[in-house]
Amino acid sequence: MKENSSFETDLLHTNYPKPDAYGALSMPVYNSAAYEFDTAEQMEAAFTGKSNDYTYSRINNPTVQYFEERVKNITGAISVTALNSGMAAISNTFIALAKSGSNIVTSKHLFGNTYSILVNTLAAFGVETRFCDLNNPEQVESLVNKDTCAIFLEIITNPQLEVVNLERLSEIAKRNSVPLIADTTVIPICAFKANKFGIDIEIVSSTKYISGGATSLGGLIIDYGSFDWLSSPKLHNLVKEQGKSAFTFKLKKEIHRNLGAYMTPQVAYMQTLGLETMSLRYDRAAETCLMLCEKLEKLTEISSVNYTGLISNKYHELSKRQFGEKSGAMFTFDLSSREACFTFMNKLKLIKRATNLFDNKTLAIHPASTIFGTFTPEVRKEMNVSDKTIRVSIGLENVEDLYQDFIQALK
Ligand SMILES: *Cc1c(COP(=O)(O)O)cnc(C)c1O
Repeated sequence: MKENSSFETDLLHTNYPKPDAYGALSMPVYNSAAYEFDTAEQMEAAFTGKSNDYTYSRINNPTVQYFEERVKNITGAISVTALNSGMAAISNTFIALAKSGSNIVTSKHLFGNTYSILVNTLAAFGVETRFCDLNNPEQVESLVNKDTCAIFLEIITNPQLEVVNLERLSEIAKRNSVPLIADTTVIPICAFKANKFGIDIEIVSSTKYISGGATSLGGLIIDYGSFDWLSSPKLHNLVKEQGKSAFTFKLKKEIHRNLGAYMTPQVAYMQTLGLETMSLRYDRAAETCLMLCEKLEKLTEISSVNYTGLISNKYHELSKRQFGEKSGAMFTFDLSSREACFTFMNKLKLIKRATNLFDNKTLAIHPASTIFGTFTPEVRKEMNVSDKTIRVSIGLENVEDLYQDFIQALK
């Protein structure tokens, strides 16, 4: 299939790892905790990794594996692991890479729970996080050392919408033999080719674009097999036997089964369906997002609109180079005060007051009082989360209807 088919086609066509017994065209949901064996020998082979037979659904499951195969097929990765949430994908990745005494170099502009897992959860196990401006090469370079197990970033930070220069950052990562790990959730895998920009491990919250209609939570760890793990503080001794697959081996054979956050078959089924329409939905939502932002920029009630698709945005050119003509379907805008933001939120009629991104419905949230509501004002300031900002995730509604909801809510 792969050589002569295009992305839209690949999204729909991936062979099953094994043919279905009944020839089902849609991958059935294999709702079984365990799998039966004919002989003790077959059982031994499955449990010792000599065969790929399924054993237990915390470890592997045909429906989930099919979803993983689909993503593998369209990304060209060497392996994909599907987990129960984006946070499970992030925590599994960090735990596979880090050990006591190692450090992770990243920016403070991170998804709230990612920030928290670094400064609270992992810090308690002796993993240090070194924060810097990832667009400042000298700063990055000065923090990386032999104990650095990853440089971690979000391709467009949420909610600040900062774009990291990936060519420059990956060049630093390569020169220092550190893997580049990116959370790419805000631009879907159909529009952004992570491995082309030197990203070694890609993390996606499939709750967002992939699920299609926000049906379920999910997370993906996508390994491109591009990193030489010989320089990894923790994985170097696996390289002799596993080569480029050292990370995947550690992840699949130890971390994900020990942490027990594998995707469930029902979720894999829904997200496989979501994957099939992702590219269509993304095109529509990103086009609407740009049209709406252009209209909103002209309104005097709004002090600023932050969207990298706007020509006025300082990351516009960089965003175009990295993510193409479309710039995602999330933007923020500022009003005069926190009170003005609350009034606006309360007046919305069509747009939903809800967290989450890339539902089919358009959602609005005031990040400072919600996602970052339990952070101190000082930390919020450091993270550049303002009281005057509202974040919007664009869905599939008609752009004029969305605009009219803005107009009435701003009055
Ligand atoms: C939502 C999100 C996550 C977390 O994903 P969940 O599926 O909610 O656990 C991580 N990173 C980014 C950028 C997100 O938007």
